[in-house]
Amino acid sequence: MRTLFRNLWLADGSGSPLRRSAVLVDGERILAVEPEITASAADRTVELRGRILSPGFIDVHGHSDLALAARPEGFGKISQGISCEIMGNCGLSAFPLSPENREHLGELWAQYETALDWEDFSGWRAALRSRGVRLRPEALVGHNTLRAAVAGYADETLSPGQLEEMKRLLARELAAGALGLSTGLLYVPGKFAPPGEIEELMRVVAAHDKIYATHLRSEGNELFESLDETIECARRAGLKKLHISHFKTAGRANWGKLDGALERLESARAAGIRVTVDRYPWTESMTQLSVILPGKAGDLDDSSLSRLLANAEERLRIAAALAASRSADYWEGVTLVSTRSAKFRGDGGRTIAALAEREQITPAGLVVELLAEDAAGTTAAFRGMSEENLRRILALPFCMMGSDESARPADDSIGRSHPRGFGSAARFLRRLLDAGSPIESAVYRMTGLAAGTFELSGIGRIEPGKAADFTAFDPDVVDAAADFANPHTPAAGILFTMSGGEFVYRP
Ligand SMILES: [Zn+2]
Repeated sequence: MRTLFRNLWLADGSGSPLRRSAVLVDGERILAVEPEITASAADRTVELRGRILSPGFIDVHGHSDLALAARPEGFGKISQGISCEIMGNCGLSAFPLSPENREHLGELWAQYETALDWEDFSGWRAALRSRGVRLRPEALVGHNTLRAAVAGYADETLSPGQLEEMKRLLARELAAGALGLSTGLLYVPGKFAPPGEIEELMRVVAAHDKIYATHLRSEGNELFESLDETIECARRAGLKKLHISHFKTAGRANWGKLDGALERLESARAAGIRVTVDRYPWTESMTQLSVILPGKAGDLDDSSLSRLLANAEERLRIAAALAASRSADYWEGVTLVSTRSAKFRGDGGRTIAALAEREQITPAGLVVELLAEDAAGTTAAFRGMSEENLRRILALPFCMMGSDESARPADDSIGRSHPRGFGSAARFLRRLLDAGSPIESAVYRMTGLAAGTFELSGIGRIEPGKAADFTAFDPDVVDAAADFANPHTPAAGILFTMSGGEFVYRP
């Protein structure tokens, strides 16, 4: 099947100026890109009426590792023009699996009701493909999964033998095609890893000439220390490609730290390390509600936390400690996104403050009640980022689009999304265009730059031989339409998404 796209402005993913072009596709690949191609060369012709044709957008920071196994259509992503997603982020990948981590991950991902019937990167990707995914699945090796595969989830320093085993598994996955290593040093068990452990793993990444992407140990109060630790490890390990995930200055007290953070990235660059970042275009973060628990409860994995919260006395004690650790107005800025708790299932989009008022209990008591019912699946959005810093981060020429979300279906059968799950790419594009970026430059950040940074050789450009992965959009209209009240709303202005020569989204 040959398809001809014509009457369009081409943003080819290289950043070079828009040009009038026709693009001919044969099967899964691009056959020709010329100023004019006659319709007789094709089996079908698609007229774009002066809109933009770009490479399919690349989401460099996604979490669809299991979501796509459960619901392969990936509607939230493809409906915003994304055709490829990099998964395995924040230290959490779906591989390697071992008796040490399989049961735990099975509980963490119970909502997806899908068997973890693989062991390694190749097996995971084959499992997704056999289920018929439409997004191109790529992945980093997650440090938390890797560490747990060898040593479980406890707060332990690894033995030399365990560290060697981690390095062996990491090397195996990188050789099989995983793009690099990710860490989530805020989470269990990654938070127990000393810098020396990360440095040793970076050496393996450097030896394979791949990338290290990190959710820093702290994105707020200890942002500088976390960046310094990362860059120091990278220097010592000879790492050449460093990527900071969802780059931000979290918490109002830390909004003044952006200049200092950028200076640190600059110093890494001066030391010969290529530094990149990604960002979703919202000022509210989203993660598991359990991350706000203070003290020992905050160090537990989800299963252990559930067992602890089954005890009424523990619930009272933890609620008291949580209340003492937060200011009274904090709870206005925390919005419940998703939970499997029967009582609160329909309350996504409401703040913890409002729900506590309705239930006539304290906000901390409400949080503990939610976590007691669903520690693994209860997620919340947290206000705490600066709009001005978001504007400055999006303007960085090395900032890519990363949704930090999993691909959800239109319904909420596998949980409700942050609006970024349906709108990141479109909003990212809108913000760049509104800030005065030429269309070709904005597209480059979401395509060619992303493909080059993560070494995705067959995609990210519209040129003969590359994969027929496209997004067509109207630059006057394109924007997110999702918000916290209605997060599963497709983006505006996306005309279609094509992956491997097939229309996967065409509203
Ligand atoms: Zn993260």
